[in-house]
Amino acid sequence: NRRWSLQGMTALVTGGTRGIGHAIVEELAAFGATVHTCSRNQKELDEILQGWKSKGFKVSGSVCDVSSRPQRTQLMDTVSSLFDGKLNILVNNAGTAMLKRTEEYTVEDVSFIMGTNFESAYHLSQLGYPLLKASGRGSIVFISSVAGVLALPNVSIYAASKGAMNQVTRNLACEWAEDNIRVNTIAPWVINTSLVGKARADPSLEEKQKRTISRTPICRMGEPNEVSSLVAFLCFPAASYIIGQVICVDGGYSVTGF
Ligand code: NDP
Repeated sequence: NRRWSLQGMTALVTGGTRGIGHAIVEELAAFGATVHTCSRNQKELDEILQGWKSKGFKVSGSVCDVSSRPQRTQLMDTVSSLFDGKLNILVNNAGTAMLKRTEEYTVEDVSFIMGTNFESAYHLSQLGYPLLKASGRGSIVFISSVAGVLALPNVSIYAASKGAMNQVTRNLACEWAEDNIRVNTIAPWVINTSLVGKARADPSLEEKQKRTISRTPICRMGEPNEVSSLVAFLCFPAASYIIGQVICVDGGYSVTGF
């Protein structure tokens, strides 16, 4: 059924070696897409690409620090030559978090978080635009966060980077709908990845995390493949009328009133 397939499509997923990005690469490849991914660690990337090759997935990868403007340009050049100037799917997933009170963020922290999370995704969308348009059926999915939807403590700059993403989703969606490029965003809640694992290693944060989970209606963290399934759906032809949405994948956290 072609409405529920990615057969013959091409995709770029940033940050595919771990966590949510890793699950997204596997999900898209399993539905038939040819995928390119990136991360900053050549060794880890090579190992993971080898594993995917042995599973029969059509996945390639190159090193790119998405916070670097020239490296982003180079990444899109690579993608363009791999996929013949056309791209069906761009998933802006690579991102990072930092926990501090607002009065403690330094100027470097601010540009690091905004550069890695927001500017990277914005610029890659700009760079990807001609390729997405040329494909005749393009889809951009941003991975934002519930932190960009609600106010949570100690994440103001991370929240701003994700909130900016949520807003440009609507702008790009309206500008590019006429080019047959759909733009949507997924805002996950706590997902079991190395990013969250880092916080768990800190005893004071572990306790906080437990409390957070207990306030989540489903009473558990999410798994990366509970996010990647929605990425695949948003890229299917079946999702052709879904444009400019920010969808929370959050075990009910953003809707609970008690
Ligand atoms: P992980 O830290 O587990 O994985 C991040 C991936 O992105 C790795 O492959 C990492 O590889 C890569 N990456 C990180 N920074 C860069 C960079 N500058 N350039 C290129 N690649 C990079 O994170 P998650 O899977 O948890 O997070 C993925 C996205 O989901 C992020 O945008 C995050 O904000 C968002 N999110 C996560 C939530 C969670 O609870 N886990 C909740 C809500 C949103 P390497 O470090 O080797 O470069």
